[in-house]
Amino acid sequence: MTEIPRSHPRYLSLMMREKLVEGVKLGVTAMQGLIAHGRGEAFDYILGERTRDFALKAERAAVAAMLLAKNPVISVNGNVAVLVPKEVKELADAVGAKVEINIFHHSPERVERMKKYLEQFGIEVLAACDAVLEGLDSARRIVDSRGIYIADVVLVPLEDGDRCEILKKHGKKVVAIDLNPLSRTARMADITIVDNITRALPNMVEMANEMKSWSKDRLESILEQYDNRQILAQAVAGIKEYLDRVSKELKSS
Ligand code: ATP
Ligand code: MG
Repeated sequence: MTEIPRSHPRYLSLMMREKLVEGVKLGVTAMQGLIAHGRGEAFDYILGERTRDFALKAERAAVAAMLLAKNPVISVNGNVAVLVPKEVKELADAVGAKVEINIFHHSPERVERMKKYLEQFGIEVLAACDAVLEGLDSARRIVDSRGIYIADVVLVPLEDGDRCEILKKHGKKVVAIDLNPLSRTARMADITIVDNITRALPNMVEMANEMKSWSKDRLESILEQYDNRQILAQAVAGIKEYLDRVSKELKSS
């Protein structure tokens, strides 16, 4: 990995890139994952690169949904695997979720490499690829009969819109993490976290460790008060406010 000095103003962002490039070299991350990350970076930039209020609310609702679920599953792709493996393990432990590999650019070898990679972090990985979600043409239809196939709540970070739709058609509650509030995924999910996964997951681990002792009623009331359309509207407005502010600053300088 290239040495990035901690004092660099874009340290966190550059470290993410290094991890992803390393992931590609290991055969865990797909090349296309680098491009997807770039789209995410652009949105992160115009969101101010911090967790905003609307993201915190969605993260709290997501944790409540996962704690209330019978069979919660965290779906992991090649970007998630290298960016936040430790936090995936911590969140899975805190909410009692299973972890399943689900990738678009599928090959048995890549699945095996990802499995070995995640197991180094103590994650028990589901990747049997022994069940199919009908209605989807991409490789993401291939799932594990003990995981996504029977899940009631699925956390899908960095997801594509069509699978999100199919998961919903199969009656699952979908939680997406996507920096683009305009994406089909963001609009399709039940709960959309518009935040960088590297900030969202640590936040969710902290929340889960606190909320896991809460009563069912208290968790349910969080979900009752949650409105995803409002949250997405706030995210889009958040971008607009940020751009307006910069525009004003530029005009007055
Ligand atoms: P749609 O959902 O409209 O079908 P898409 O699936 O074609 O869009 P992709 O580029 O495949 O979009 O998906 C990647 C998504 O993941 C992008 O919307 C991007 O904003 C988001 N993303 C990438 N990196 C991160 C990250 N580190 N944290 C959160 N979101 C990210
Ligand atoms: Mg998407």
